Formats: sequence, C-alpha cells, structure tokens
Amino acid sequence: MLSKRLEQVAEYLKEPIHFADIGSDHAYLPCYVCLRHEHATAIAGEVNQGPLERAKQTVREHGLSDRIQVRKGNGLEVIKKEEVNQITIAGMGGKLIRTILEEGKSKLHGVSRLILQPNIDAQIVREWLMDHQYKIVAEDIILEDGYIYEIIVSEYWNEPLDLSEKDLFFGPYLLKEKSQVFYKKWFHEKEKRLKLINQMKQAKHLPVEKINKLETEMEWIREVIADDDR
Ligand code: SAM
Repeated sequence: MLSKRLEQVAEYLKEPIHFADIGSDHAYLPCYVCLRHEHATAIAGEVNQGPLERAKQTVREHGLSDRIQVRKGNGLEVIKKEEVNQITIAGMGGKLIRTILEEGKSKLHGVSRLILQPNIDAQIVREWLMDHQYKIVAEDIILEDGYIYEIIVSEYWNEPLDLSEKDLFFGPYLLKEKSQVFYKKWFHEKEKRLKLINQMKQAKHLPVEKINKLETEMEWIREVIADDDR
C-alpha cells in the first residue's frame, strides 16, 4: 500500500521510465513503479544509513534488485550524467529540494521531467524552476491524513520563462483550478498569517518588512479565496 501522495507522484512518470528517486527512504516509490511497469528501472538515492538500509531491504523483498539500484549519497551525486530520464524528490521541504537541484544541476542534462513534492515552501521550488528554464507542466494538491501536499511536475524548456509573483506563490495550475483542497490550504495559511502579524505587532521593534510581506500575501490570499465561501 503506497500513500496517495506517492501514488500521485508515480502517476506523473512518463514511459519509458528510468528514474532516480532522491531521498527514497524505504524505496516504496521505486518499488511501486517497477512492479507496475515491467520495463522501468530506478535509482533510489539516500544520504542516511538507516533509510538506505530500509530501501535495500524493500528492494530485496520485492525481488527488484536487477532493476532498482540503491545508492548512498547526497542529492543528485548518486546519478551519473544521462543515466536517468526523470527525477522524483518527495517528502522534503522546498528549501532542501532547491539545494539538491542547485548543487546537482550538472546532472540534469538529459533529464526531461522533474516531479517534485515539497512538504512546505513550494514557492521556492517554483522560483528555482523558473530561473533554470524548467516549465511547470502540471500541478496537484492533495489531502491525506489531515496534511496537504503539493506536487509540481516540470520539464526543461528552451526559452526564458516568466511566472507572475502570484503564480509562484499559489502555483499556476493550482490557482487556475482552485480545488477544494486549495481553498482549505489557503484559508489555513491566511489564519496563520493573521496570527503572526498580530504577534509581530506586539514586538518592541516592529519587524516592518516582514509584516509588509505577510500583509501583501494576506491580500493575495483574500483576493483568491474571498469570492467563495467553501
Ligand atoms: N521520499 C520519501 C517520501 O516521500 O515518503 C521519503 C521522504 S523522507 C521524509 C526524506 C528522506 O530524504 C529521508 O530518508 C532523508 O534521509 C532523505 N534525504 C534528506 N536529505 C537528502 C539529500 N540531500 N540527499 C538524499 N537524501 C536525502
């Protein structure tokens, strides 16, 4: 049984599938994909020993050692140039995903698709993608066990890209679609910002810039969700 979140990540892999899953922990995602697609191959990358051992064990248990290689290393250092055609990075913060992409960008040649699932700070991931000419081709927002997750699917695009500040903040596809989960997320984010602003306003030295930024974001959120009472 794979989580709905990782199932959705898997849905975005395109055949032929030769992918690297970075930060693979139990290697659930590579195993699920290779069991469903008989010609798929994967590299499960892990920086920590515990998750690495767990990944090796899952791969062995499923008899997939001939198609999934579990490698120890930091970020994209576990892959060689042009070894995979897609990369998944799921279940981490947006800042860590950005660092992994930035430090490993020399390995991205030949990688046609990135499927990224930041737990927080999706905006940082979108900014990195735009700055490196990766076009967002799909997005998803899902609710599982009380948590909301965003998935960003991106492909290399040979032209400069320009997303608006709001697109970067909300996600261009998520903003267009405005699903129920999207409303739920941004209602909650609005409340969070309201509390933060009130706390900051109690401070002796007002963090004016931070307050202004949060108030601008609040305004965007209000505009986007205000016209609906979902
Ligand atoms: N991808 C799985 C998922 O979505 O369920 C596991 C997510 S788990 C929260 C994050 C995993 O990423 C951990 O196993 C951690 O050891 C690994 N990790 C963190 N930083 C990493 C890095 N720089 N390179 C490779 N793996 C990393």
